[in-house]
Amino acid sequence: MELMIWIRVLVVLIPAAVGMAAAVMLGRVLPRKLWSRLLQGVVAIGISLGLLLGGLNVYVNFGVGPQEDMVRRVATEKKIVALTFDDGPSPTYTPQILDILAEYQVPAAFFAVGAHAERHPDIVRRIAEEGHELGNHTLTHVNVPTTGTLQLAAELALTNFHIYEAAGVYPKYLRPPRGMYDRRLRQWAELMDMQIVLWSLSSQDWLETMTAPRITTRILSRVRPGDILLFHDSGAIVRSEGASRLRTVQALPDIIEGLWARGYEIVSLAELLAYPGVEPDPDVPPVY
Ligand SMILES: [Zn+2]
Repeated sequence: MELMIWIRVLVVLIPAAVGMAAAVMLGRVLPRKLWSRLLQGVVAIGISLGLLLGGLNVYVNFGVGPQEDMVRRVATEKKIVALTFDDGPSPTYTPQILDILAEYQVPAAFFAVGAHAERHPDIVRRIAEEGHELGNHTLTHVNVPTTGTLQLAAELALTNFHIYEAAGVYPKYLRPPRGMYDRRLRQWAELMDMQIVLWSLSSQDWLETMTAPRITTRILSRVRPGDILLFHDSGAIVRSEGASRLRTVQALPDIIEGLWARGYEIVSLAELLAYPGVEPDPDVPPVY
């Protein structure tokens, strides 16, 4: 815990120190007035960026204030984890993931984007029929804190509607895009009888730099009992779909086999959450 915090502090401090050193060098060659203006600007931008990134990191991974209503991982010594997939369904990748899960007889939870569920009801139905769980990931993958209250209500309700229409099940879980929540989302979740489920270990499979072996290594080297693992069966950096998830598909068999080899059991979210001692404030690495 302490070590992770210090690593994060250093990640912010080292670039800041390098920037300062570069600024001092620049100050020697520029006219004095221009230099002082520049320095003020650079320092202001640096401090704002550092605070913004640091704050966002703490907010997404640790949360601010009491978080009993939101789950990131379950505090247990038992070697159990749950697999979750965000942003789908995708007509290309979700069926491939379902095939692998069926082959290994492993459950997962799919946090669907409502608009994708509306477009691919057959895949939503297949997810439910094959015993997997469905969650709500908003209708159009919005940033919750910057979405108006009325639109937020529609984003959540219509996603539930499309999932229910396709599969005949009411999604029990809610995961806000990018892990960005606010008080209104938490109130809506309570009113709609849904559990907000975030994650404790991201595969970072959305990063272009992540190859299938790197995704596998990342998960297997960091996994802890009670983890909720995050993958993506659709999505893209800016848009809500379109990126290749081939690497996720390729990594999945090795991840399942690797978890088993390390003595882990892959259980459904419902089974994981049934364990007592939900831990609201875990020590998890940054998601970006
Ligand atoms: Zn997402």
